[in-house]
Amino acid sequence: MISGSNVKEFVYEALPSRVIFGWGATARLADEVERLKLKQILVLSTPAQTGAAQAVAAALGSRVAATFDGAAMHTPVDVTNRAMEIVRANQIDATLAIGGGSTIGLGKAIALRTDLPQIALPTTYAGSEMTPILGQTENGMKTTIRDRRVLPEIVIYDPAHTLSLPAALSATSGLNAIAHAVEGLYAKDGNPIVSLMAEDGIRALAAALPVLVERPADREAREKALYGAWLCGATLGAVGMALHHKLCHVLGGSFDLPHAETHSVILPYAAAYNANAAPEAIRAVERALGTERPAAVALQALAKRIGAPTSLAAIGMKKDGIDKAADLAVANPYWNPRPIDRASIAALIADAFAGKTLA
Ligand code: NAD
Repeated sequence: MISGSNVKEFVYEALPSRVIFGWGATARLADEVERLKLKQILVLSTPAQTGAAQAVAAALGSRVAATFDGAAMHTPVDVTNRAMEIVRANQIDATLAIGGGSTIGLGKAIALRTDLPQIALPTTYAGSEMTPILGQTENGMKTTIRDRRVLPEIVIYDPAHTLSLPAALSATSGLNAIAHAVEGLYAKDGNPIVSLMAEDGIRALAAALPVLVERPADREAREKALYGAWLCGATLGAVGMALHHKLCHVLGGSFDLPHAETHSVILPYAAAYNANAAPEAIRAVERALGTERPAAVALQALAKRIGAPTSLAAIGMKKDGIDKAADLAVANPYWNPRPIDRASIAALIADAFAGKTLA
């Protein structure tokens, strides 16, 4: 609330990236490539998005030196090593990632090793393209780093690339984005500028997602959702995250639960846990959701309405994992507005496991 009396001292650090937004923005790709004088581009995708990658590569013609469609969830280092062989063999001078967080993660992993410029064409709402964060996995261990080299230089947000995102993935990916914004609103290093982005990001996604699950081809909702995802991703890139992201990191990393679905399940419980400790942030979430109910209740209602999973049991967690997850979540905890204690965290995970209805 920048206009109120609550503006305290803060530090705001802008991250340098060029964002091109709009229907058909992909047509601007050739100009961007020309502007950077790129001649040997490597186009990245997952196996499922080979077609989209080939279409983009065809549009760029001889500027594309190679394509690699092996991107995978959680950026496995062996996949990056295979892509690096192509980078070296073809004197690659930039990467172009078309896809969600997995593909953009591979571009980032290459940039970490080479500092090559990156162009990202996001096709989900995960937001990785706006962050200097990279998570990589090796021998079953996920490590996360923050490094300016991994921030993509150019991001082209073209809602056309999200038209094919299935309704279920649109719902969970959108909630994943909302989670960045909720935690950004109560971040230890939060500030009024980032809070503006976070609140508006939630507002845009909360309005768009119910429409998208009914009508995945609705252009206005696709545009609004991608705009919201940008703002939520920018929030994730700008400020530190808290309990929610720690829990999702633990559950995804140690129990192999799917990324966006885990975020969808945990978010209402994390919001409930922090509600009394971060009242101003939670009020902003309620404003953005347009609700009179507590944010946690409204977030759970939104997840149900858009058909996202609402229990850890439903996404493959086993009941005997609750204790181990609680142990891991309280070891090296992230900063959180409400202090972390093992009993409360175990109770939160047990509630999320069962999908307890919040009131
Ligand atoms: P994803 O990139 O793994 O995509 C999921 C599946 O959907 C893939 O098979 C993909 O090919 C397919 N897909 C993506 N867009 C599609 C579209 N428009 N149409 C049809 N199919 C499409 O999923 P995600 O949730 O975007 O990314 C998850 C990964 O990103 C995780 O590894 C997570 O850790 C990482 N991530 C990193 C950050 C960061 O800042 N470093 C932020 C968010 C997520």
